[in-house]
Amino acid sequence: MADLFNHGGRSCSVPGCTAPARNDHSHLCEAHRQRQRRHGHVRQRGITKALLRPYVARVRGIIDKDTTGQLAAALHQLHALLGDRARQSVADALSGRPGSKWERIAGQEVAKVVEATNALDCAALVAGLFLLRDEEPGQFVSEDGFRFQLARLFRAQTDLAFGSYWDQEAGKTKTVYRDLSPRATAALARWVVDAYARFVGHVVAWDRQERTRQAEALEALDAAFAAMKP
Ligand SMILES: [Zn+2]
Repeated sequence: MADLFNHGGRSCSVPGCTAPARNDHSHLCEAHRQRQRRHGHVRQRGITKALLRPYVARVRGIIDKDTTGQLAAALHQLHALLGDRARQSVADALSGRPGSKWERIAGQEVAKVVEATNALDCAALVAGLFLLRDEEPGQFVSEDGFRFQLARLFRAQTDLAFGSYWDQEAGKTKTVYRDLSPRATAALARWVVDAYARFVGHVVAWDRQERTRQAEALEALDAAFAAMKP
């Protein structure tokens, strides 16, 4: 077997990383190569469900404000359309219509996730991640970093994205996230962004307005106290 690492040669190209680079075109060490593949950027960290939870809850709160049922109905429709389009693209690919392998894989994954999830959960998850980026842009090192998290969290809603194996040493079953290839991940993120862009736009605008009103109320409070002068 060829030696993957170029021991006598260069180290990883990520600044500050002294691990030996793999002997391939990436010029990255194994850890950074994996992070790049999995997260879309060598410095992107995985967004945890715990970090995302309050943002998802805020989106649920916005959805709950609609008492007519129109918003929920529209989100159910978006979800169903996304599933239909994904299944159609898979059927087209199977019938020999030309298209990229990545698009087909992404379509398959989207169809599976839609099948296994609730429309409102999906919508809240997607918009929640956009809200997180709006308020904590530092969580994402690049657009790819963001999109890979989106694809990853979208898939992680179901256990379809996970495989399990028996860990002999630990004496128990372990679960691992099964990565899609970077190109399939990017394609999946496109599916999701395209489907939810309009909803996300509304949610982010609504949330900003709420935050502005809150800030204005606090400013008014400060001004009132400043004017009273004991
Ligand atoms: Zn490295």
